[in-house]
Amino acid sequence: MKHEFIFSAAEAARLLNTALPEQCGAVEQLYPVQITPYYLNLIDRGDPLNDPLWKQCMPDAGELLDPDASFDPLAEETQMPVSRVIHRFADRIVLLSTGRCAVKCRFCFRKRTWKTGAELPDISDRELEDACRYLKNNPQIQEALISGGDPLMLSTSRLHEILTMLNSTGTISVIRIGSRVPVTWPARIDHELVSMLSGFDGLWLMTHFNHPAEVTPESAAACKKFIKAGIPVLNQTVLLRGVNDDAAILEKLFRKLIRIQVKPHYLFHVDPVRGVRHFATGIEKGLEILKEFRPRLSSLAVPTFAIDLPEGGGKVALQPDYRCGDGFLSINGGKVVKYPGPLNN
Ligand SMILES: *Cc1c(COP(=O)(O)O)cnc(C)c1O
Repeated sequence: MKHEFIFSAAEAARLLNTALPEQCGAVEQLYPVQITPYYLNLIDRGDPLNDPLWKQCMPDAGELLDPDASFDPLAEETQMPVSRVIHRFADRIVLLSTGRCAVKCRFCFRKRTWKTGAELPDISDRELEDACRYLKNNPQIQEALISGGDPLMLSTSRLHEILTMLNSTGTISVIRIGSRVPVTWPARIDHELVSMLSGFDGLWLMTHFNHPAEVTPESAAACKKFIKAGIPVLNQTVLLRGVNDDAAILEKLFRKLIRIQVKPHYLFHVDPVRGVRHFATGIEKGLEILKEFRPRLSSLAVPTFAIDLPEGGGKVALQPDYRCGDGFLSINGGKVVKYPGPLNN
């Protein structure tokens, strides 16, 4: 699908009729800019610099802080038995299908795959064959999570080839596609794509809304196409300082998502990756927000809060702790309640 993207901060600022903050140029030398006209148009022209969507897609001096942090603290590169395959958990793998995205998110934890001079190309036939051979040789792997980059940047026919190859292993029964395209480029979600995807069993879409302003008639319609085609849509959100680290904003987002039948699945703390540390809120912030949600927000709307541990330690889910002495704190915080133990017979 042909599309015009915006490839420079200066061009984006010009389209928004605003002056470009000084530091943008140096940042985009290292971490380039890409934005869809659709996503840019969601930014508030009255006050673009403080807009939560601007902050997600426009370069910021914060990206140059912490130059000693690792580009790969999760040690993904050390858990790749073959090119393109990250195998950390017994039953599931991540397949890196491409380095491309519709919008380059400034908080991306895989900046190492698109920073200037290090762009990950689309997966080749040879790499796909090697990956599928690895899967066949390791039948305990039952799920493939197609990631990137964004797999929906690939052509529909290329994606069809990848899905067909994964299916032909005979061992992969569940496929999860991770994509922010329904949010950043909803026009890409066309009939041809969705009808191709609906031909595969065990397919799930994991999309990525971070802010209520991203839930628009267009992005909602894109999600609905998947749901109508029998493909469940889940969402993961990253907790971002200055963007959505606020219970009222996240409540609004999650309520909008369940209204369009998209299940908030994960809320991630920012990974300690070079170039994104300025977005980190601290873990306590996420726990505080979850605690606020407990008494007032439907469990349908509440995602699992998780951190991805460095050194390939895996994803750890975190919950506010309600234990209090030998009882439990009530969810309104008002009293301590005892819970009966098991029978002693
Ligand atoms: C996040 C991740 C998965 C998927 O984990 P879930 O908890 O099932 O969502 C699989 N492999 C890797 C390497 C991951 O980082």
